Amino acid sequence: MAFKRNLSKAISLVAFLAAADVMARPVTDEDIANDAKATDSVVTYGIGTQGQRFSSLDKVNTETVAKLTPVWAYSFGGEKMRGQESQPLIHDGTIYVTGSYSRLFALDARTGQHKWTYEARLPDGIMPCCDVINRGAALYDNLVIFGTLDAKLVALDKETGKVVWKKELEDYKAGYSFSAAPMIVKGKVITGVSGGEFGIVGKVEARDAKTGELIWSRPTVEGHMGTLNGKDNGITGTTNASWPGDMWKTGGAATWLGGTYDPETNLIFYGTGNPAPWNSHTRPGDNLYSSSTLAIDPDTGKIVWHYQTTPHDGWDFDGVNELVSFDMMKDGKLIKAGAKADRNGFFFVLDRTNGKFISATPFVTKTTWATGFDSAGKPKVVPENRPGAPVAEGKGKSVFSAPAFLGAKNWMPMAYSPDTKLFYVPANEWGMDIWNEPISYKKGAAYLGAGFTIKPLYEDYIGALRAIDPTTGKIVWEYKNPAPLWGGVLATKGNLVFTGTPEGFLKAFDAKTGKELWKFQTGSGVVGVPVTWEADGEQYVAVASGWGGAVPLWGGEVAKKVKDISQGGMLWVFKLPKS
Ligand code: CA
Repeated sequence: MAFKRNLSKAISLVAFLAAADVMARPVTDEDIANDAKATDSVVTYGIGTQGQRFSSLDKVNTETVAKLTPVWAYSFGGEKMRGQESQPLIHDGTIYVTGSYSRLFALDARTGQHKWTYEARLPDGIMPCCDVINRGAALYDNLVIFGTLDAKLVALDKETGKVVWKKELEDYKAGYSFSAAPMIVKGKVITGVSGGEFGIVGKVEARDAKTGELIWSRPTVEGHMGTLNGKDNGITGTTNASWPGDMWKTGGAATWLGGTYDPETNLIFYGTGNPAPWNSHTRPGDNLYSSSTLAIDPDTGKIVWHYQTTPHDGWDFDGVNELVSFDMMKDGKLIKAGAKADRNGFFFVLDRTNGKFISATPFVTKTTWATGFDSAGKPKVVPENRPGAPVAEGKGKSVFSAPAFLGAKNWMPMAYSPDTKLFYVPANEWGMDIWNEPISYKKGAAYLGAGFTIKPLYEDYIGALRAIDPTTGKIVWEYKNPAPLWGGVLATKGNLVFTGTPEGFLKAFDAKTGKELWKFQTGSGVVGVPVTWEADGEQYVAVASGWGGAVPLWGGEVAKKVKDISQGGMLWVFKLPKS
């Protein structure tokens, strides 16, 4: 009897261990806090919530990268071959990658074996401004969470792909959509909204990541009421302080790109887009909090500080670009800094504890709208380079502006290496003819009051990957690319910087010198965000390939230059061959 009992105990123990083995580990707050250091996974957008996009892996390095070889590739399939701007996540042997048209794929990270696909059923009336892209997901507990183009947030069981909860972020019929990667901060899922070209009102929101229940909401245009736990939580700013009349009611400031979170200051940093409409003559004033970086308390949703990079934006410069936390030694002092390469052409360094301006230096060759920034952090604007007010007959005076509204840097995230102490910024050199037109707000209709044509500035290149020293703003090296750069950057301890090109290559550069060391042709334009991780002692690199995004849709004369690039939709995974 005793033998039998022991045998059955042993069997149930084996069964328990087998079950534990197939049951994947949940993603914890600790996993998220350690993501910048952990090398066996990538559980956040940004490789750590501070957004440095730096990996401490160095097996793939300046010596070995020439041998980097594809291990497997996976096609997103279907007829939905459009821009693939996603950053993959890797956890417990599975890759989670989003695709165009709000799709999410779970794949075995070693073999590429398909596990499951979630495909959002999108309504006909969605209004994405800039292609049907998605930038990535968030992982928390047993969930993988991502946003869809009809402005919904979906949480899926990360083992099965089954919907656990689904929430509406906003009304897609009013022009709202969602394409950024959500962020997890202390058990909350943090999101923004897209739709700045439709007169929506931007906001940042926090939900219980396990249930999707709203905790707080913070509108990003002055005059709108925030909420906390279902109760009013104060108006954003002061009504009519920087907006005339009722213009703030449809004031834009879309939070269409993801934020970053700095645990040292316990602040969420979120960028906001253009004030609406683009025609700035309809809304004299600074138009807070458009084209700004906001520091938000993750526990209450209150704005702790703000810094506006383009006051009274009249060029659709937005200000959504990510603020990346880093520690900077300057004049013998350690500064808790944050850096932002803004669409308006300037590279900003702020004190991230209080938003105090430290420096702004141009990172492109031409900035017509302002000659620089004064020591208080205000732009020295060139008034004659603002497009003129519409006249009785219609269109106002057209001006040539550089950068173009697609930005000196658009959504594509930069990287920072604590080794080289340099930022790696995917920049573009282009300008535009821009003019204003009369406009009035209509729900769900484009709300620009402007027209434009984008033009390259130079014959031989548009894109430029630039290594910037944040203490001086000096460009240490640059790599020039014929087509505009539209993909994210990854820096590694192996002294490497990775980024993709519309011409189809994933490329690796020496982080100190900019020397190109490796490239691989993926078959379509690369506008995805590369990541790296380690499994079984080997270092892997992955990137999504698939041309698209805003450039072919809005790029004017630049779009003509890139019209022959093939569409795609693949995830590529690389490693070094076993010696
Ligand atoms: Ca915009």
